[in-house]
Amino acid sequence: MIYDNNNIFAKIIKGEIPANKIYEDEHILAFKDINPLAPIHVLIIPKFSAISYSDFVKNAPDELLINFFRKIEHIIDLLKVRDSGYRLITNDGDDANQEVKHFHLHLLAGVNLGKII
Ligand code: 5GP
Repeated sequence: MIYDNNNIFAKIIKGEIPANKIYEDEHILAFKDINPLAPIHVLIIPKFSAISYSDFVKNAPDELLINFFRKIEHIIDLLKVRDSGYRLITNDGDDANQEVKHFHLHLLAGVNLGKII
C-alpha cells in the first residue's frame, strides 16, 4: 500500500482541515478525536508519512522514533492523566479495522476503561 498524501490526518497536518489541537511541534501533533470513545480521547500522530505503526517503526529515522515516543510522555502530563491512568491503542491493517491510513495512537482516559483483553 502507498501512503496517500491526501488522507484526513495528512490534511490536518497541512492545516487544510481544522482540528482541536492539544499539542503540536515540528514532528508531532496531538488532537481530539472527532468521535470520542472516552472523556479524553486524543489522537497522536507523527508528521511523517507512515501508514501504520509498522510502517513508522520500520521507516522513520531513529531520532524521530525516539522523539515521538518521548513526546507522548509530555502529552500525558499535559492531559493530567499520569496518576489516573490511560490506554494507548493503535490499529494496523484490516483485522484491526484501521480507518485512517496515517499512523496514529489513540490515547483514552478520564474514566475506568474496563478490560479489552
Ligand atoms: P482508526 O480506526 O483508524 O484507528 O481511527 C481513526 C480515528 O480517527 C477514529 O477514532 C475517528 O473518530 C477519527 N477521525 C476520523 N476523521 C477525523 C477527523 O476529521 N478529525 C478528527 N479529529 N478525528 C477523526
